[in-house]
Amino acid sequence: MKRYIFVTGGVVSSLGKGIVSASIGKLLQARGYSITIQKFDPYINIDPGTLNPYEHGECFVTVDGMETDLDLGHYERFTGIRATHDNSVTTGKIYKTVIDKERHGDYLGKTIQVVPHITDEIKRRMLRKDDVDFVISEIGGTIGDIESAPFLEAIRQLKWELGNRAVSVHLTYVPYLKAADELKTKPTQHSVKEMQGAGIQPDVLVLRTEKHLSDGIRQKVASFCNVDLECVVQSEDLPSIYEVPVNMQRQGLDAAILRKFGVPVGETPDMKAWHHFLELQQTARTEVRVGLVGKYDLQDAYKSIRESLSLAGTYNHVKVKIEFINSENITEENVEEKLSDLAGVLVCPGFGQRGIEGKISAVKYARTHNIPLFGICLGMQMMVIEFARNVLKYKDANSAEMDASTPHNVIDLMEEQKNVTNMGGTMRLGAYNCDLRAGSRVAGIYGSLQISERHRHRYEFNNQYKEEYEKNGMQCTGVNPENELVEIVEIPEHRWFVGTQFHPEYSSTVLHPHPLFLDFVKTCMEQSC
Ligand code: GLN
Repeated sequence: MKRYIFVTGGVVSSLGKGIVSASIGKLLQARGYSITIQKFDPYINIDPGTLNPYEHGECFVTVDGMETDLDLGHYERFTGIRATHDNSVTTGKIYKTVIDKERHGDYLGKTIQVVPHITDEIKRRMLRKDDVDFVISEIGGTIGDIESAPFLEAIRQLKWELGNRAVSVHLTYVPYLKAADELKTKPTQHSVKEMQGAGIQPDVLVLRTEKHLSDGIRQKVASFCNVDLECVVQSEDLPSIYEVPVNMQRQGLDAAILRKFGVPVGETPDMKAWHHFLELQQTARTEVRVGLVGKYDLQDAYKSIRESLSLAGTYNHVKVKIEFINSENITEENVEEKLSDLAGVLVCPGFGQRGIEGKISAVKYARTHNIPLFGICLGMQMMVIEFARNVLKYKDANSAEMDASTPHNVIDLMEEQKNVTNMGGTMRLGAYNCDLRAGSRVAGIYGSLQISERHRHRYEFNNQYKEEYEKNGMQCTGVNPENELVEIVEIPEHRWFVGTQFHPEYSSTVLHPHPLFLDFVKTCMEQSC
């Protein structure tokens, strides 16, 4: 029997609903249940693909090519599930489906309204077709926002229809007032009232707090909000987000949820591998400094890359200290000062002209000083351009994205992109196969000659130059078997110089960190010893 968990948030945003949803998923999996986690975002964009990372953080890409919210990255890293199109829903997607159906004549004769048509479409997506024990649906935004109203109405109806097959988990904030030296529960009480006003009684409350909450405070919240005491748990700030599931489990969150469903609680979840990971993370002392060269000075903009580096560090028994270096501020003159004492450099993905000359200078410095260098997507393209300019001596080499009329377009628009006019969802997206060259560094790292990795780009390595690159020391060691697109470049003579057109960061998980990140960090460690 399929059961449903709805996760909402109140008081303020950025409480970590995604982490809590992923933690619930992880704990249920560790009890042997199958799960899926999906995100409902109340904005009108069809997907976050066209949003500036400053607005929305990183855009995470699923294997089947959906551009999604970065919370999907947490879901995958925590639980190892592979999300698809269905796991990411926005108000835009809901309305588009309903309006397309209306135009098609599916509702002939009817007035199309938010209730029931929009809410029915939300409910259809919440219920899902797949065969899992638990469906966790996280609702983006904060309760009380105008945009979330139809989602709340859908949850209200489902809770009524599904009875004890639906549980509502509400995440709120308990602020600490320094002047009064007091933790305040009033915002939580108001937030729960807001939920009740929408007809939903939360079953479980997760209280985000910077200070430990006494049993008295939990008791107060429980009785003011009509929630059982065992169903009020706290989520304190922890040194690592990966401690959240264990912390939730210690307080009995998963057991409380199961009881609400009337499911026997049974044995404690098997979190052995997770505990092993946490132990490694807590005992890692040595620090390795890796430079992240990008243009968005915002933690969330390169979320999956940051997490992949840190996970790879843990399994290498080190702490990766990420030094963000804004590529707009890198010049030929100051690059040495910025990069010389780093153990390795990662050049980030991105779009557009801004900051690319700084990225090229960083590549040149790392290439000529034998500093481990990892380029991802635009980062790989910058490695290709730098090599053309400084080794092949094509001073004007560029990507057609930056200079459409460059005579040496070593990075060019993909053939299938030439007639694309719509911006949304039209890049080369999702997982594609890639064949690795036997004997190459990457083949050794992957331990395989066939891989599949996720993409998000419009431009590609221009194969007209391939021979010249190979003759001069840059090898194209990963190629798509169907269309010959170059997916990986490397310089074998260099200590570690690998550029990938794909995004390996999307498939690194807590229990299975990505081999390229593992090897990159390992080499950085050796470099810094
Ligand atoms: N702007 C480049 C392209 O579209 C790289 C994209 C990326 O880094 N994700 O090909």
